[in-house]
Amino acid sequence: MCLLLLTPGLLFEYQATRLNGMGILLVSAITLLVTGLWAWLPKYRLREAIRAPFPDRFVAILETNVPVYSKMTVELQQQLQHLIKQFLHQKTFYGCGGLAINDEIKVTIAGIACLLLLNRKSHVYPQLTSVLVYPSAFVAPRTEIEPGGVVTYHEEGLLGESWGDGRVVLAWDEVKEDASDFSDGHNVVLHEFAHQLDDETGSADGVPILGKRASYQSWAAVFSREYAALQSSAFHRDETFLDPYGATNPAEFFAVVTETFFEMPVELAEHHPELFGELESYYRVDPRAWQ
Ligand SMILES: [Zn+2]
Repeated sequence: MCLLLLTPGLLFEYQATRLNGMGILLVSAITLLVTGLWAWLPKYRLREAIRAPFPDRFVAILETNVPVYSKMTVELQQQLQHLIKQFLHQKTFYGCGGLAINDEIKVTIAGIACLLLLNRKSHVYPQLTSVLVYPSAFVAPRTEIEPGGVVTYHEEGLLGESWGDGRVVLAWDEVKEDASDFSDGHNVVLHEFAHQLDDETGSADGVPILGKRASYQSWAAVFSREYAALQSSAFHRDETFLDPYGATNPAEFFAVVTETFFEMPVELAEHHPELFGELESYYRVDPRAWQ
């Protein structure tokens, strides 16, 4: 009744406001629906990928290229399969330098990388999006700033590389060679994915996410002592059980001792019991059981 007394201009304004209100409601509902769907769909697809059976041909690849797999308990094998399915679903493999990506490449790399994630409720390398694989050693450009501000460029041959922006780069022939001897303390996949774990804190400083404050304290005490000892030995060119490359910086030290922990656990526990203890607490497995 009141509306009839209003001027046509005001009446139009009232109707437009009303329509706008309905429109906003409709747009909000659609936005909510799309946002919900957007958030739900990847989780649904991941659940489906994990729920799918682990193919027998993948098991055969693990038995050949990840020798410790056959020595694990069934429970750990199932955990590893679960992690591998998640890894393969979430990460994209790219063949570089003419390499064609196949199941062997994907399952071998994912299988070794996921050894580092057993027995914990963590995401599967959340920052990682891509794994780039070359047939063999690849050349990476390097820029260095020398004293006096002179910038130099050179190229470096690499077997593996981990980036904080979500990429790991690997040489396939090195991956296979390292996998064929899982007891020499050298494994490029273990090394590069230890760097990924280190990067999850936001700084590559050789300290991954440890959780409790007490864990950081004991880690710092043991790792700083062991790192200093390796640096001193490397400086004096003394022979060391640990690869002297670990003396490069704390991040490389963590990557190197990770390789040693999984491939030479008995020797590491014997020569560096405290270091072994810290790594055992962090990785939540005892690879001595797989020897
Ligand atoms: Zn490294």
